[in-house]
Amino acid sequence: MQDMVHSFAEKVMRPIGIALDKMTPDEVIAPGSPYWTYLEELKKLEITPKTFMDLSPEERGRLFPIVMEEMGWGDGGLSIIYGACSLPPLMALVFNRTFLIERFPDTLRGCWAITEPDHGSDSLDISRQAFHAQGNYGRPNCVATIRGDKVVVNGQKAAWVSNAPTAEVCVLFCSADTGDGADTQHGVCILVPMDAPGVTRGKPLDKIGQRALPQGEVYFDNVELTTDYLVAGPEDYQRAVYLIHAEANSQMACVWTGAARAAYELAFEYAHQRKQGGVPIIRHQAVAARLFHMYRKVEASRALAQRVALHNHTAEIPSLQSAMAAKITATQTAFEVASEALQVFGGNGLTKEYQIEKILRDARASMIEDGCNDILALKAGFNMIDPDLF
Ligand SMILES: Cc1cc2nc3c(=O)[nH]c(=O)nc-3n(C[C@H](O)[C@H](O)[C@H](O)COP(=O)(O)OP(=O)(O)OC[C@H]3O[C@@H](n4cnc5c(N)ncnc54)[C@H](O)[C@@H]3O)c2cc1C
Repeated sequence: MQDMVHSFAEKVMRPIGIALDKMTPDEVIAPGSPYWTYLEELKKLEITPKTFMDLSPEERGRLFPIVMEEMGWGDGGLSIIYGACSLPPLMALVFNRTFLIERFPDTLRGCWAITEPDHGSDSLDISRQAFHAQGNYGRPNCVATIRGDKVVVNGQKAAWVSNAPTAEVCVLFCSADTGDGADTQHGVCILVPMDAPGVTRGKPLDKIGQRALPQGEVYFDNVELTTDYLVAGPEDYQRAVYLIHAEANSQMACVWTGAARAAYELAFEYAHQRKQGGVPIIRHQAVAARLFHMYRKVEASRALAQRVALHNHTAEIPSLQSAMAAKITATQTAFEVASEALQVFGGNGLTKEYQIEKILRDARASMIEDGCNDILALKAGFNMIDPDLF
């Protein structure tokens, strides 16, 4: 499996990731773009959420991080496309929603919409542990009104929703109004077909890193569904937010370990080719020591990412705190190692001819993605005091 995914990462993901990085966000998703080739080739690998769910928890916990690291080695942004696609079917499987499992095959393009224009980090603080004493989270931007067996969604999600510009299904986390109004503390998790009447999308977002990953707003105008589409009702909302973050943060840890490894390997190779002072630069003590520290950080990041993935796939309740520790470690590692790699490349590292500056930009975005690392640390710290709250 590792060989198969590595070969895919090398032959498909890397060249397509580099090509998409140079395109405008509109060009990335236009018909004929290599973005679509990537999705077609990815399908052929047959590594959907169900493939992993059919394995034993231990096999899954060992194999999944290896697959995600290889993908991250290929391209960070393209790996997140794969990760985001997996979240709607995964939530249906975890909550055992038979209707949704059948309604949305796990081969569909998926997205996860939780962030709102006025609620970025707030959306991670359901229990309001990080709430400022003089703060007011105010009104939600997106509300699902539940009456009888009908759910009606109105409002919008932020431009940060990964895959939104092309997704076929969305796992939506939003506030719920069950008769007493809506606030940012009570919500629901719903699978929304992206072709449902009333769903529209914003323009794909232009950003410095992970440019291969299309992102954009989702708007909901009286989108009416039956309650069959609910993954988790208000009583299960906190649990759903906990579980999806535990999964997403663990995936992120593996992907960004892979990106860090890619930066390290490119620098290691370059240090053998580039000569200064009459010898390959790796012969200079400072360069060798720099490369050793990069290697040390990658190994530590992988060890933590794999340990957390194995624990979370086999434990009755996954550990969010551990997933956050792994996500923060891996994304910080990817950023530091990519920056060190750029230093090894010298001036060449700054040019678009080499891949290092792209990995650095991609890695920078990962420290904000799926929750700013600062907020994750704050929430994980509070989680150590009150493990039952999120
Ligand atoms: C590449 C990428 C992919 C993403 N994918 C998705 C996706 O698929 N779906 C989705 O819904 N969202 C997604 N996001 C959104 C992401 O989760 C948010 O960007 C993130 O949660 C931060 O929200 P914000 O950008 O609004 O920053 P803000 O919340 O506005 O934070 C700004 C700064 O203030 C700090 N801050 C905020 N609140 C506090 C507090 N209470 N205490 C201390 N400091 C605080 C933060 O740490 C940060 O430094 C993605 C983001 C990126 C960059």
